[in-house]
Amino acid sequence: MGEGAYTPAFLFVFGLEVIMTKKLTKTKLKEFEKELIDWKESLLSEAQSSIEDLAQTQENHADISDQASAETDRNFSLRIRDRERKLIVKINEALERIKDASFGVCELCGELIGEKRLKARPVTTQCIECKTEMEEQERREAI
Ligand SMILES: [Zn+2]
Repeated sequence: MGEGAYTPAFLFVFGLEVIMTKKLTKTKLKEFEKELIDWKESLLSEAQSSIEDLAQTQENHADISDQASAETDRNFSLRIRDRERKLIVKINEALERIKDASFGVCELCGELIGEKRLKARPVTTQCIECKTEMEEQERREAI
């Protein structure tokens, strides 16, 4: 009975601690930073090689009958590069969030995004609950 009187104070301190730990540890942030940089570098080198392929393809398709397929290759490469470019922008934004330690925190509810989700999709800015909620809302609006 007597112990009960201390509960609110304990909860307050505990609550405060939870708020303070709602960000990833420095070690975790470093890990994700390395992953993001590696990912960006591999995207950049892929982009570089697809540009070289493109130049090669254009040289090889001097023949008029091959023009159509060369055009298809070109469109395909451009689409890929567009997707890569957008991804690189997202990676840069994630790297900025690592700098101010807001990385890994959901932009909508302020809760930590699960580590499994972050590992699978390090550029995400929303936790799975908010993401699912958003998608359901979009589906409802689309109907
Ligand atoms: Zn959320």
